[in-house]
Amino acid sequence: MTSLAIIGGSGAYDLLKKKTFNKLKPCRKIKTPFGQSANIHTFELDGISFLFMSRHGDDGYKTSAPFVNYRANVWALKEAGIERIISWSGPGIINPSFDVGSYTVPHDIIDQTKCRAGTFFEHGGLGFIRMKNPFCTDLRHALLYSLESLNLNFQEHSVYVCTEGPRLETPAEIHLYHSYGADLVGMTLAPEAFLARELEMCYAPICYLTNFAEGVCDRAYLTGELFEGMMTKDEKHDVDEAVKRLPTIASLALKTASDHPRECECSNAMVRYKKRGDITDDWHTWIDP
Ligand SMILES: [Zn+2]
Repeated sequence: MTSLAIIGGSGAYDLLKKKTFNKLKPCRKIKTPFGQSANIHTFELDGISFLFMSRHGDDGYKTSAPFVNYRANVWALKEAGIERIISWSGPGIINPSFDVGSYTVPHDIIDQTKCRAGTFFEHGGLGFIRMKNPFCTDLRHALLYSLESLNLNFQEHSVYVCTEGPRLETPAEIHLYHSYGADLVGMTLAPEAFLARELEMCYAPICYLTNFAEGVCDRAYLTGELFEGMMTKDEKHDVDEAVKRLPTIASLALKTASDHPRECECSNAMVRYKKRGDITDDWHTWIDP
């Protein structure tokens, strides 16, 4: 049984299906106290097997970011025995020195979501968890190692701001987030990363950079077009190429990470409560939905 997983955005399922073998196990969903999870697939790539989940549904963009059942998805992966999660997504660029079609492995996050259930711990007084490193430091290093060994263009550090959506941001909002120190804007990493930490799973994002956010550079308003209208033809080509490499980057990082024991802080996120006798080692008993 694998302890590795990838959560991907729209288009990720088709991409993996083309690149890998997924005949190891039939697709399944897991029923959780927070509802049913997204489909869980088992893939194998470059000798590494891992579970895969599409946040927005396997076919395109059926569930928009604010309506993803993050708690059901993260619970289901924990139930399936997952210890490490790589999440991939294509945020917009706030920092004008970042290149469209390049990559980054965010090291920090600003949560600007408004309406999402952000914790498993609605009862029991649990959940004070320090966020010095909101993303797993070991998995981040593994992802950076992948990008470096594949000789790709990437930014080692970046701050991701997570907005509620589904609408995109206004120029004034992007200006504000820039003043906060954000480099990227997307809608998916919160509360996913925080929920994974609550269940002591490692979680790190790999981002391919799609387009400049509203107001960062002047692009004409093209009726009927969304992100594709915010990119030049060359930029679109670079982004398409960047997306195609994601399975290789992620599987190499999972392999690198799984060659080493977990020594990061994620696996001990709840140890304070265990030491105090507030909770046992059985994570199911921590949560009373
Ligand atoms: Zn970790």
